[in-house]
Amino acid sequence: MELIRLDSICKTYLRGDMEIPVLQGVSLRVERGEFIALVGVSGSGKSTLMNILGCLDQPTSGQYWFDGREISSASADDRARIRNSRIGFVFQNFNLLARTSALDNALVPLTYSPAHPSEEECRRRATEMLQLVGLGDRMDHEPSQLSGGQQQRVAIARALISQPPLLFADEPTGNLDSRTTEDVLRILQKLNTEAGITIILVTHDDNVAHHAKRIIRIKDGVIVEDGATAVGKAAAPAPPPAPLPPGHPRIDWPAVKSGWRTLRTALRALRRNVMRSVLTCLGIIIGIAAVIAMMEIGRGSSSMIEQTIASLGANVIQIDNNEAVINGVSSGSGGQVSVTYDDADAIRRECSAIRWVAPSLDCRVQVIYGSRNWSPNNILGTNPDYLSIRKWELSDGAPFTADDVRSAAPVCLIGQTVVRQLFGNEPPLGKQVRVKNVSMKIVGVLSPKGTSMSGRDQDDYMIAPWTTIKFRINGDRQATSGTAAAALGQVNTLSQSYPNQQVQFYPQQSALQAADMLQITRFADVDDIWVSALSAQDTPDAIAQITGLMRERHRIQRGAADDFRIRDLTEISQALASTSRVMTNLLLVVALISLVVGGVGIMNIMLVSVTERTREIGTRMAVGARQRDILRQFLAEAIVLCLAGGVAGIVVGRGASIAVTALLGWPTLLSVPAIVAAVTVSATVGIVFGYYPAWKASRLNPIEALRYE
Ligand code: ADP
Ligand code: MG
Repeated sequence: MELIRLDSICKTYLRGDMEIPVLQGVSLRVERGEFIALVGVSGSGKSTLMNILGCLDQPTSGQYWFDGREISSASADDRARIRNSRIGFVFQNFNLLARTSALDNALVPLTYSPAHPSEEECRRRATEMLQLVGLGDRMDHEPSQLSGGQQQRVAIARALISQPPLLFADEPTGNLDSRTTEDVLRILQKLNTEAGITIILVTHDDNVAHHAKRIIRIKDGVIVEDGATAVGKAAAPAPPPAPLPPGHPRIDWPAVKSGWRTLRTALRALRRNVMRSVLTCLGIIIGIAAVIAMMEIGRGSSSMIEQTIASLGANVIQIDNNEAVINGVSSGSGGQVSVTYDDADAIRRECSAIRWVAPSLDCRVQVIYGSRNWSPNNILGTNPDYLSIRKWELSDGAPFTADDVRSAAPVCLIGQTVVRQLFGNEPPLGKQVRVKNVSMKIVGVLSPKGTSMSGRDQDDYMIAPWTTIKFRINGDRQATSGTAAAALGQVNTLSQSYPNQQVQFYPQQSALQAADMLQITRFADVDDIWVSALSAQDTPDAIAQITGLMRERHRIQRGAADDFRIRDLTEISQALASTSRVMTNLLLVVALISLVVGGVGIMNIMLVSVTERTREIGTRMAVGARQRDILRQFLAEAIVLCLAGGVAGIVVGRGASIAVTALLGWPTLLSVPAIVAAVTVSATVGIVFGYYPAWKASRLNPIEALRYE
């Protein structure tokens, strides 16, 4: 039965514009079961002919029938398929995968088999083949632990594992001593006679050639002699029909279910060179770790900056009375009396974007302690939430309570300036001061706050329950403050402030005037309502909610103007927004740079690795890997490296930021988006930067790859 027919095959290499004719019209027939030695001096074209016969190369002209099918112009994939299942190769220099056990070397062709044998099946067959070539006791040895003869036997086992009907051996004994040469040749003979495998043996050595049944001599690219040897004549008639895998080579590839297999191959390849894999990862590890550590430290600092800015009041909203215009004369802000304590209560109950609400009223009266007196800049009536809104802390004592507010208790908190003015070095806590004849107990001292941005001394404060201020201290403001009786009956009047001047500052009101004036007493109106939004970002929402609620409560018609004003610290919120924008952009740029650096690192090492593994790629292609198999394998390697690097990078980055917090005390903040982005990016980097080297590897010409030194 005819296995091979060549019809005037020519092969011409091009070197620049010089043509090198290597094969010049070779015609040949090979029957199944033959054992042919292809003999010729070095450079006569034996390897070239074998590469064409073995579907590693294509002829320049001529026709090639393999097993009844013309394949001189078959596609690369078809040829890979034929090599994988119908042809075995044994090379002079073995071409085993380094740092890979004999067993794993022998089963390489099966990883590219379209039949997809299982892992156990692969191992079973590899074991069988290694036993067949007498290496049953060396299965887990790596090439460097095997002698030349043993390596060549592993190569033979690999060539036989997919049970090909045809075996090529290119100078298989070229690197072996005479005794091992005999061994290898005996194995080949046995394969030929017992298994009926057709063998084509390329050699320049006549002694080797005489182990074959037929010798074909080639000289300068043409066949000069073709005849049976003594062995061949003795063996005639033709060998028994061989137990070969059936039928025609099917040149269609079954649907790919090779993802897992590709991954396994990639993992094996990575494991073979742990050091290089780790170094490759290092780039991405550093990149990702840098991104995560930067992000976490950056977010920590950024949130601290935000908090600092927010503590200036970015989320604070102030609601106060609108101006009153009476007969064309504007009172200035706060002239109208419309904002009440009940408004504050309603805001607390109904607005969701707020955290704290505090009504406030202020007045300016004298405070007396013993022989000293002082008029604080602000005497503020409010509730305990005010301290939270203004982020005001106590340096001593405790704030008054909601109960104190309910009962209008005579208690107060004082600021540092007031302490200095009234008490000097005395501890103020628990002392009683007099405010307009009301004896107030000091329950707490405010911690220093310094001067505000507008230049006000923020320590010149006295804070008391708003009910106390409104109903006990200030309650008579509207009714009696202007009257002579009041002026005479109290110590702390304006005329008392200037004891030497015997002038009345304000003209006394007549009874008529007093009756004519609108007098509001015991109204629960307040000067301001202070509100803090949940966060600086929620401020606009909070303002919208408050506006809606207030308009509804004050029954303001659609289109009519508000009778209250809402103010927020726009300046500060803008500073906050732009600060966090700058921080975010900065972090993003740093992250991108480190990832690109990591990616380029991966690409470099993958390119080096492709070059370094050129022979491996050639070998894989010779045993039937298609271009896309090689592409997938290298791509999978790159992605695995990047993902592993990504995971390690996350751990290192987290560790670094935890260490920074622990050792330097810098704030850090876990950033889940950064982690997700890092993993996504590392996989993307793997694909993008791994693709080029992988593509380059898959484009390699198998023959050149095998020749690569
Ligand atoms: P051998 O019989 O020793 O195996 P080869 O078939 O390897 O010889 O090579 C035959 C001739 O073809 C040699 O002269 C070699 O220089 C030439 N040759 C082989 N491959 C190439 C190539 N890729 N480009 C140019 N010339 C080549
Ligand atoms: Mg050669």
